[in-house]
Amino acid sequence: MENNYLKDEFGCLVFNDATAKRYLDEDSFRALKEVKEKRIALDGPLAEKLAVALKTWALDNGATHYTHWFQPLNGLTAEKHDSFLSGVEDDGSPILSFSGKELIKSEPDASSFPSGGLRATFEARGYTAYDCTSPAFLYKDENGCVLFLPTAFCSYTNEALDEKTPLLRSMDYLSEQAVRSLRLLGDEQTDRVIAYAGAEQEYFLIDGQRFAKRKDLAYTGRTLVGASAPKGQELEDHYFGPIRTQVASFMNDVNRTLWRLGVPARTEHNEVAPSQHELAPIYAPCNIAADQNQLIMLVLKRTAKRHGLVCLLDEKPFAQINGSGKHNNWSIGTDKGVNLLKPGKEPENNLIFQVFLTAVVASADEFAPLLRECSASYANDFRLGGDEAPPAIVSIFLGQDLELLVERLSEGKDPTHNDRSIIDTGAKTLPILYKDNTDRNRTSPFAFTGNKFEFRMVGSNQNISESSTVINTAVGYELSKFADFVEKRTDKEAAIKEWIQKTLRAHRRIIFSGDGYSEQWREEAKNRGLTELKTAVEAIEALGSESVKELYRASHVLSESELTSRQEIKFANYGSAALIDAKTLSHMAHKSLLPAANRYLTLLVKETEQYTGSTYANKTLEEVSKLIDEAFEAVIALDVDIAKAKGLKGHELAFFSRDSLLMDMKKVRSPLDKLECLVDKSYWPIPSYGDLLFHTN
Ligand code: ADP
Ligand code: MG
Repeated sequence: MENNYLKDEFGCLVFNDATAKRYLDEDSFRALKEVKEKRIALDGPLAEKLAVALKTWALDNGATHYTHWFQPLNGLTAEKHDSFLSGVEDDGSPILSFSGKELIKSEPDASSFPSGGLRATFEARGYTAYDCTSPAFLYKDENGCVLFLPTAFCSYTNEALDEKTPLLRSMDYLSEQAVRSLRLLGDEQTDRVIAYAGAEQEYFLIDGQRFAKRKDLAYTGRTLVGASAPKGQELEDHYFGPIRTQVASFMNDVNRTLWRLGVPARTEHNEVAPSQHELAPIYAPCNIAADQNQLIMLVLKRTAKRHGLVCLLDEKPFAQINGSGKHNNWSIGTDKGVNLLKPGKEPENNLIFQVFLTAVVASADEFAPLLRECSASYANDFRLGGDEAPPAIVSIFLGQDLELLVERLSEGKDPTHNDRSIIDTGAKTLPILYKDNTDRNRTSPFAFTGNKFEFRMVGSNQNISESSTVINTAVGYELSKFADFVEKRTDKEAAIKEWIQKTLRAHRRIIFSGDGYSEQWREEAKNRGLTELKTAVEAIEALGSESVKELYRASHVLSESELTSRQEIKFANYGSAALIDAKTLSHMAHKSLLPAANRYLTLLVKETEQYTGSTYANKTLEEVSKLIDEAFEAVIALDVDIAKAKGLKGHELAFFSRDSLLMDMKKVRSPLDKLECLVDKSYWPIPSYGDLLFHTN
């Protein structure tokens, strides 16, 4: 029989329940399961036993080191490897150990991770704490084998310095408020409610050697110059098109690695832009999905290298064609397996669904700036609001049937029943297809897709924890208001209906099913009183609003100092990213592009001397010379602003970058892109868009 990767290898590098059962005694196994299910802290003796089991399993599989793996606020993951070696016996043999204490807690030096001022006022110490609800795994490749322990990262004074801690807090908060609400709705069974995420990951795959010739890609992850190739995505021939051999071989490798790591990679296809692809795993509880998404990004990058390719995760690597996003599919379900966002056959009679739907609608309207903010970054700004990604205005798409339901509920009318209609293909041999409750609307930032909401503003490079945290917290907050309202009343059913009605009436302005890309929507949104936070800088500012502070205060998801620190870090990240872009562009212009254009100019001068009558040489000379001067002047102006920017920090640098550096860079790029189209290709020192995007076989 042939080896079947999926059947034989799935999860072989994960300390899942099946493995735990083999390495733990029965009592410890049961105790561990309870800790995970009830989400209680892992205690001393059990931690000791688990540590021994993990160590034995890791050593059996070739591991030499372990690492606490965490997600600091720099958007990356961090790891510090320690070997299992704790000493040497008298006879020279190694002593290998791993204690419960080492499993639960570690103390990496926190001083080089962003803390947004938390460290300055408090302590430099940082701690990582093991999140046993997300499975430990072995990262094994040609460079060795390491036991990875997913952890949270916080300061000496309990302040979260990472993405995971608030996410876990938000999952607990949402669960509490949802269970409280479910009790009022007559559900006595549910003990916990789980928030799920399924992240669809978009990326570009380009040739490694061509990548190496582009300083902009190497330093910033995106191209800062580059004229469009004659062909872009206008023929719509790439989306879902046949996958080319080199890419198929890469994907096969990626899938295999992910499956071994227990990441259920499921869907893969070509995306809209040339050389753009997507990978989606099966959804999981938010914290596990976030860890798995980090792993997916890591595996994509490392596997690409092995295939002589480079995986670009930046949100907008190329101008004029689609950027990359990461759709965060979000839903909530009970520990008994009921999806609370499933409308069922009769949504008009499904009070539970109506309450949860109302809470999501209200949360999106009340906390629209926060939803915008959680996906805001310097790089994602080049994508959001463009003609491809959801606009920077937050709205919800529900689809015709549910919109009608909301309309009737908010007007206090009895909802009507809609039969699911059938899609008639007209061909007798084809199966009968029932229509989904919703059609698709790709222009909506937050779309209901049958039994989940798809939040589409997240950038391809971002950690999904942040958007999951915001959605969990905001929806939990609306549910808390529901429970507060209904608990006080004796006539529960009337109170529930009243809450649904008044809440939908107050917030239905956020529902929009039209074309989110259109200019009319901007106007209409303004009339509806919806805010448009055009750039990340404005969005980050919104973190300081009273309503956001109140949300985090009430939910205990972020303390005020944590919130302020996050805002500071985001401003700083924005400014740093912009400044790196600006410096890179200046370097490229001075050291490579302008000299190249000038060499070509010299050639043209010679040619015009030799063939005085050549219209081509004369005209091109004139044009090239003019563009070189224009580009040079623009670079000088950029340099002046770079010098100014170096004296600025945080908030000030972010605003200055947006208002000055970005404008300067546009002015540099425009003549350079025109030059690229005029200068002899053999003189142009960097690969073109065509070279980068149309290469794989
Ligand atoms: P769609 O066709 O609506 O994009 P897919 O079935 O392709 O949906 O799934 C897209 C992503 O959404 C996948 O990662 C999938 O696992 C995830 N997903 C599916 N159902 C849910 C759910 N109930 N909660 C969260 N994510 C989900
Ligand atoms: Mg989708």
